[in-house]
Amino acid sequence: MKTWRQKLAAVLEWSEVDKSIFLMLILVPILGAYIFAILIAQRLPDGARLIHFAPASQLLIIELGLVVGALVIIGISLYLRKLKPQSLWIQHLATQYYSLSLVTCSYYIGTLTFCTGVVLLGAPVFGFILLNRRVVWGATIVSTFALISLTYATAFGWLPYAPAVVPPTDSDTNLMWISIIFFFTAPHFIIIIMFADQILHYWRNREDTIRTLSRTDMLTNLLNRRSIMELLDMEIARTLRHGPPLTIVILDLDHFKRINDTWGHPTGDRVLKEAARVLSSSIRKCDMVGRFGGEEFMIMLPDTTLAGAAKLIERCRALLAETTILADNGDTIRMSGSFGLASNENRLSLSTETMIKLADEALYRAKAEGRNRLELAVY
Ligand code: GH3
Ligand code: MG
Ligand code: MG
Repeated sequence: MKTWRQKLAAVLEWSEVDKSIFLMLILVPILGAYIFAILIAQRLPDGARLIHFAPASQLLIIELGLVVGALVIIGISLYLRKLKPQSLWIQHLATQYYSLSLVTCSYYIGTLTFCTGVVLLGAPVFGFILLNRRVVWGATIVSTFALISLTYATAFGWLPYAPAVVPPTDSDTNLMWISIIFFFTAPHFIIIIMFADQILHYWRNREDTIRTLSRTDMLTNLLNRRSIMELLDMEIARTLRHGPPLTIVILDLDHFKRINDTWGHPTGDRVLKEAARVLSSSIRKCDMVGRFGGEEFMIMLPDTTLAGAAKLIERCRALLAETTILADNGDTIRMSGSFGLASNENRLSLSTETMIKLADEALYRAKAEGRNRLELAVY
């Protein structure tokens, strides 16, 4: 079951054509609100104190025309929907249409209003999240240019400013106009703020999930090789400057191939998961464990000497050897691991590569000495 946030975010994955339809479906009610407001004002007994009837009627016809235009764009989009769902030109058309429609409305009620300010700032933000960025840049440039030109044209007296509006002369009409401006601003404001907030919230969550996934080994849920290597580099850089020393452990499960060969790969996977669980549970909070590859793991023990680490890892080895897993056929599977430990306690300047090489050599000795044991690096 998808949350409504996910449903909202799903709009982002829509085709270019569907997004154009979406845009027109937002525009139509906005135009409808203007039509509704003009019709009401025309019928008010003292409507003449609020609007100039002739330009308001002109605006009414323009708005009705714009609604028809929006419906035509929806029609074309519906036709393109199956044919060419990624047509960008229709999105260019819809977006330019959307913004120029609002510029027209803005001219009639005044370009220098709170409402225009909100839309001018908010619509590009909304657009950049939802639409193709070239489309949004195109529409923003054209409509900003149109708005500035219209405003200067009124300043030079070539066009009347806010022709549909009777400038308020008393506190009553003033109050009325402020309310009307808020009425027209509110839907833009609410849609833009809510949409941006929800989408950004969804993106932040998705980014967190992706970051976690990219750092996690899918089978064991431990850190994966890349992230344990990154952490190791960071830890080594830290000890290099300030100490205290760090010990690393590489461990490899013994005769793991036999487990796979005897009980099958899926059971082998279960054993790996169980090994991961045992390892995670037997280390301290500040230690880190990751899957280094196949049936090999790395444990990182910050602020730990080689001798201290040997004690801790000996417990870990014993715990692993005591662990049993029930196979599907009822057999009891046992496992063990060989551990190679290396520390930089005597030489803080050891590089990551050298530390790994030393731990690897120690592990090799542990294997050679009979497995299910730990060996300490000598240097
Ligand atoms: P040794 O004691 O010398 O380490 O012997 P080994 O059998 O453990 O070592 P070898 O390298 O010969 O075999 C490792 C096996 O681990 C082979 C490979 O198929 C298995 N393996 C690696 N990754 C996975 C995995 O994700 N799942 C399962 N089930 N097996 C894996
Ligand atoms: Mg092995
Ligand atoms: Mg191996």
